[in-house]
Amino acid sequence: MLKVENLSTSYRTIDGDVRVLNNINFQIHENEIFGIAGESGCGKTTLLKVLYDIIDFPLQIDSGRVVLTVKENGTSVSYETGKIRDVWWKHISYVPQAAQSVLNPITRLRNQFLDSIPEEYRKNETKEQTLERVAHYLEELSLSPDLLDAYPFQLSGGMRQRAIIALATFMSPSIVLADEPTTALDVVVQRGILMMLMRLQKKLKNTLVLVSHDIGVHYQITTRMGIMYSGSLAELGKTADIFRNPLHPYTKLLIEALPRIGDKSPRAGIPGRPPALTNPPAGCRFAPRCPYATDTCRVHAPVFREVQPGRFVACHLVQEEAS
Ligand code: SF4
Repeated sequence: MLKVENLSTSYRTIDGDVRVLNNINFQIHENEIFGIAGESGCGKTTLLKVLYDIIDFPLQIDSGRVVLTVKENGTSVSYETGKIRDVWWKHISYVPQAAQSVLNPITRLRNQFLDSIPEEYRKNETKEQTLERVAHYLEELSLSPDLLDAYPFQLSGGMRQRAIIALATFMSPSIVLADEPTTALDVVVQRGILMMLMRLQKKLKNTLVLVSHDIGVHYQITTRMGIMYSGSLAELGKTADIFRNPLHPYTKLLIEALPRIGDKSPRAGIPGRPPALTNPPAGCRFAPRCPYATDTCRVHAPVFREVQPGRFVACHLVQEEAS
């Protein structure tokens, strides 16, 4: 339903263009929770913005495209980069990072809902009728309709996040993109938000794309996931397979660094830091931190390729499964 083809993007700076996404290729399917993981600065948020067709200066597309395919009156219709924004809210919606701060703190939520719902979707309703539908939807999500009378500054961070998610899903879009939806919330509230997202995806039978730096979040709720490193995809596959048998050395180290119940031994972090995007190393960008790096790795960048059915990896050491 969402296809990313040969996508490369850069940020324009006074010192020249800085490549942030490097030849990304993958697909997101209907009715799945797809996760995008990786350390801060690896390009996850930029990728999500491009999926949502937010390509504003200084971001530019150097090559490639995103194609969103949805059903309209029983027929498949495709929208490409540049046109995806025409179907915002209706087919695709976005919960941005720090979403809680996108609400206007001094405007009641009822007005923010009304302002966000396109006229065409209100089906000639009066404002009161639309708000009745919104109130009913909030109840379906176990949220009080009284929220509509509140100003965002009166709500906790968790409740503001729930309100944003309700707003993003009110029109039953085919795909919802959520960027770090649990960041800056305490663990109990985080769990509640994740449960809400899972319940919503089940109810709407749509697709949720979840960006999180916290690989534990992906383990809990995603069905497939991609792991990004320094602007490229390092590994992609079913989440259960990746956790059972990580193939890329970076994925292995990320999973080994996760805390485990009952195991009090110190977890080893990943040595070193991701490379600066302004001056990435030649060859495999993970080589300076990789315990298995060879001379080949330091010269030739590995190709992101399918090594098992549905499993993609960019590493010279991972062999393709014999067919
Ligand atoms: Fe490590 Fe080489 Fe694989 Fe890169 S290509 S992850 S350096 S083994």
